[in-house]
Amino acid sequence: MKLRIAFLGLGAIGRPMAAHLARRYDLTVWNRTAARAEEFGARTGARVAATPRAAVNGATVVLTCLPTSREVEALLDGPEGLLAGLAAGVLFLDCTSGDPASSQRIAARLAEQGVAFADCPVSGGTNGAEEAALTVMVGGEAGTFERALPVLECFGKRIEHLGNVGAGHAMKAVNNALLAVNILTFGEGFAGLARAGVPVRKAVGVLNASSGRSFVTEALVPDRVLTGAWPNTFRLALLEKDLRIAVEFLEGQGVRAPILHLAAVLFRRARAELGEGADYLEAIRLQERDAGVEIRG
Ligand code: NDP
Repeated sequence: MKLRIAFLGLGAIGRPMAAHLARRYDLTVWNRTAARAEEFGARTGARVAATPRAAVNGATVVLTCLPTSREVEALLDGPEGLLAGLAAGVLFLDCTSGDPASSQRIAARLAEQGVAFADCPVSGGTNGAEEAALTVMVGGEAGTFERALPVLECFGKRIEHLGNVGAGHAMKAVNNALLAVNILTFGEGFAGLARAGVPVRKAVGVLNASSGRSFVTEALVPDRVLTGAWPNTFRLALLEKDLRIAVEFLEGQGVRAPILHLAAVLFRRARAELGEGADYLEAIRLQERDAGVEIRG
């Protein structure tokens, strides 16, 4: 039987993920800004629902991809909310980079209605989503993971079960915390090199042939910092949220995390200053400004 899938949240990464699902399954979409859903439906043939309840009515699998767990939780309630439309036996996969505690609450509420939940945040960016090459980090029961696999394989390349509900979100938050730290340390180090007159593009090449290299220096810096392009496929505000989740998670585990605390403070300041629409690499713009230098190739 062809699965009936509902997808809620057609943002920067949700759109390409949902487009893969539309190719293989019977898909209904919902988006807060309806025009985005209409455009998506016209392009992919997916049905467009007017409310979250209508989107999940008759669905066998539901996926959400919203900014934070708060928005997912808020969609549950009300006469047009998800709980009003979900039937027992449905599989609910949350691809939001959310937080473990909220997901455990959401999972418990869904379980009362006979709905199985797994947190399934992704990594790989909008390019990875378009190429169906995302890494998917899953938290939930083993049986739920097995049921989710054929759906997640539509956009995922490496799909791993990491533990109970919340484990996927914890893994994702730690991953993104490391990403954020790499961004900040690159900005500091290269502001210094640029001030000293070291040719920046050459220095990035040297770094990427040396032991300090990272995904940030290999992929993101050449595309965004050296060009000054800041394409905003991933909002700085979302990375700031990921750092907060990572710090909270580590505190909950009794792990002291002075480096991530500081990174969270710096990203919080960057978010306040640059606003909700800034690209995540733009944190480096503030470091450039403080140092009175630009890191361009
Ligand atoms: P965007 O900001 O591009 O899109 C957010 C989506 O959530 C939009 O569909 C938006 O609707 C919807 N939304 C926002 N607020 C609400 C609300 N209160 N109620 C209902 N819907 C709402 O985010 P992304 O697509 O980039 O990110 C989504 C998730 O995926 C985040 O958790 C992010 O951290 C994660 N992620 C993003 C990656 C990326 O490269 N972009 C990579 C990996 C993970 P509307 O159209 O109305 O604004």
